[in-house]
Amino acid sequence: MGAPMNLYRGLGVSGGIAIGVAHVREAGSMEIPEYGIAKTKVKAERERLAVAVKLAKRQVRRLQNRAKTMPGAAAEELGFLLDAYQQMLSDSRLIRGADARIESLRINAEAAVQHEIAEIAATFQAMDDAYIAARLDDIREVGNRIIRNLTRKVLRPFSSAPKGSIIIADLLSPADMAQIDPGRIAGAATVLGGAEGHAAIMARALGLPAVLGVEDLLSNVSVGDEIIVDGTTGEVIVNPAKGVLERYRRRRDALTRKNRQLDRLRKQPATSRDGTRFTLLANVELPMEMPMVAQAGAEGIGLLRSEFMFMNRETPPDEEEQYQTLSRLVEDMQGGTVTFRSLDIGADKPVHAAMGEMDDSAASALGLRGIRLALLHGKLLENQFCAALRAANHGPMRILLPMVSTASEVVQAREVLKKAAKKLKRRKIAVPDPLPPLGVMIEVPGAALAADALAQVSDFFAIGSNDLTMYTLAADRANEHVAHLFNPLHPAVLRLIQFSTSAALRARIPISICGEIAGDPRFTALLAGLGLQELSMTPSSIPHVKQRIRKMDAVSASARAQLIMDQTDSGRIATLLDDFNNLA
Ligand code: PEP
Ligand code: MG
Repeated sequence: MGAPMNLYRGLGVSGGIAIGVAHVREAGSMEIPEYGIAKTKVKAERERLAVAVKLAKRQVRRLQNRAKTMPGAAAEELGFLLDAYQQMLSDSRLIRGADARIESLRINAEAAVQHEIAEIAATFQAMDDAYIAARLDDIREVGNRIIRNLTRKVLRPFSSAPKGSIIIADLLSPADMAQIDPGRIAGAATVLGGAEGHAAIMARALGLPAVLGVEDLLSNVSVGDEIIVDGTTGEVIVNPAKGVLERYRRRRDALTRKNRQLDRLRKQPATSRDGTRFTLLANVELPMEMPMVAQAGAEGIGLLRSEFMFMNRETPPDEEEQYQTLSRLVEDMQGGTVTFRSLDIGADKPVHAAMGEMDDSAASALGLRGIRLALLHGKLLENQFCAALRAANHGPMRILLPMVSTASEVVQAREVLKKAAKKLKRRKIAVPDPLPPLGVMIEVPGAALAADALAQVSDFFAIGSNDLTMYTLAADRANEHVAHLFNPLHPAVLRLIQFSTSAALRARIPISICGEIAGDPRFTALLAGLGLQELSMTPSSIPHVKQRIRKMDAVSASARAQLIMDQTDSGRIATLLDDFNNLA
């Protein structure tokens, strides 16, 4: 008899069905390779650990020096913590234990550190004490730093997961997602996370069925359990009965057939029944999506999230590296415009290579996120602009600024862009003339309400409905507890979209939308009815939205949007929209 079947529910954030074997990642641990070593290699492996520890000591010393320059209480607080790290690195159970394990278990140093952390964690957890729990976090921090130093090269999380496995974790960060190979991993389910968070967006980009926000998941799944992830309904089934498994296999195959049928729309124009032409663009998170962008028939990239270049590394990429990556993307688009968005880190996307030693809380959702942080570290923005301007010699490009809340940010960014152009010219590098259009994301309610003012200093707008919804309704997009409040059909959100769209039309600047609703066919008629004709989305959504457009009458959509905008209740709005969609 097999293990008992269990059904768990969470948020279905990335559609499709995945069936596979559980690969469980324990909370707080890092994904590392584990392999055996020959007896003759033990000495060298212990030496490798010693070198990584020495490097960690140097890194912490650098942090200690930097901490001294901080104001009063912060310096003291951080100083204590870093002293404790330094002690741990000098002589502690962690280091001694890891060193001994290399010899006794004959395993690689990374795995030895990981095992030692797990054993210390098990002892500490048995004590159930808040103070001790915090110390455990410190041990993990130090241990993970050593592991990072050991691997040095870019980490490949989940590389030890068997092919076709389902990742089960407490949380997957966007940086984790960026490293998942969809050819290897079939799906994912986590305890934490909301539907519009960046991890969810990445899962959709990778076509990886995923369910987030599943309570009690980790305590009920063991490595090797058979798992079904239904990313559409939000169900996770552990050790399904034979009949259930069969049913899901049939549904998975039917979905694959349906998607293949939609592929036929690739070369068809996105034109409504009454002749309105729409432009469907791709949101790109990772270069590995480029084949999907072409496959989906995107006319350009409406949002290139440049964060991927900074993830999973210790230091930011230099201008040359960014230019190489960007120019390849631009060339891949073969004349389709690439909308390059400058770095948008912060909130649920902390990217340490660009944040330096800055605390995550400083880059919170209302903190130094996006353009705010970029302007503070002007050099970082200038480097990005230099790389983008050079890449713009390979094909059409627009530059987009995230998280703009005031016109002065756009003015300052334009100055940085001009400075970057001047510097390149001095280096005798060609720069497009005129410079690429500089646009802003409309994703802060204040920016939407002041869209007329922003239109005067911007060349185009791109509505980011994910953050616009989050900030308007004060509902964290990555928090499963407020997922029920995150509703883009709330009249407040729709009014901001309508207002920004009409401001752009009045100022005669292009406007597009690139939040997740742009890729959901349920919203297409409403967005079209509000005047949006450029929609940017995850590549796999393009055929679905195109199909909706080709069945839609744009004039009727506009009449329905007007009726919807007269409503005050989001339930009524949803009914009016769904009824309209059902008529098609
Ligand atoms: C948005 O906020 O809607 C958006 C497209 O930007 P991101 O999801 O990258 O924050
Ligand atoms: Mg955003």
